[in-house]
Amino acid sequence: MNVATAASKKIYNGKEAVPAAVLYYHVDDPMISGSGDLQPDVINKEIIKALRTTGLVNGNRDIINMLDNSINGTSDVIPVGFNKSGDLTAASSAVSNEDYSAISKYVDKKIREFGKSILNGDIKVNPYEMDVKGSCKYCEYKGICGFDDKIPGYSRRKLDLDDKEAMELIRNES
Ligand code: SF4
Repeated sequence: MNVATAASKKIYNGKEAVPAAVLYYHVDDPMISGSGDLQPDVINKEIIKALRTTGLVNGNRDIINMLDNSINGTSDVIPVGFNKSGDLTAASSAVSNEDYSAISKYVDKKIREFGKSILNGDIKVNPYEMDVKGSCKYCEYKGICGFDDKIPGYSRRKLDLDDKEAMELIRNES
C-alpha cells in the first residue's frame, strides 16, 4: 500500500495511493513548565507533545503505524490513541478509508458548487456558528463584510450536528 497525504484518489507507481491524513501543525516554540532539574529528554518529549498535530487520520492500522510507529496509548505526534484492547480511542480523530474517500469526494463537490455559486454572483454574507466557534472568529474580512447581528436579515447558520450525524450526511451525499 502506498500512502499519500493528499485527500484525493491518485495512482502512484501503478498502485492506488491512499490518503493517510490531513494534519495541521502549529509552528511554535513552546515553553515547558517544571522543576529546574528536568532532564533534556523529558523536556524534548514534552515539547513534542505540545506540538502534536491536529486534523483527521485514516484509521487503517498500517497507515497509523507508518505515521507513528511508537504509539503507546495516545500518540505524541498525531491525533489518535489506542485503548488496552487495541481499538482506537473515542477521542481519536480518525475515520475509515471509505469515510475518508467520502469526505474527500464531498469536499471536491462542495468546492465546485461554491465556485459556481460565486461565479453566478452569490456572495451573500452567510457565517456559521457552532458552540463557541464560528466562521467570524478569526476572519480577516470582519472589518469590511458588514455583517451585524443587530441588523434585521442577518443571521448565523447554526451547525449542531455531531461527528456521527455529519458523517452520515456526507456518506449520503457523496
Ligand atoms: S466576519 Fe463577515 S466575512 Fe468573515 S465569516 Fe463573519 S460574516 Fe463572513
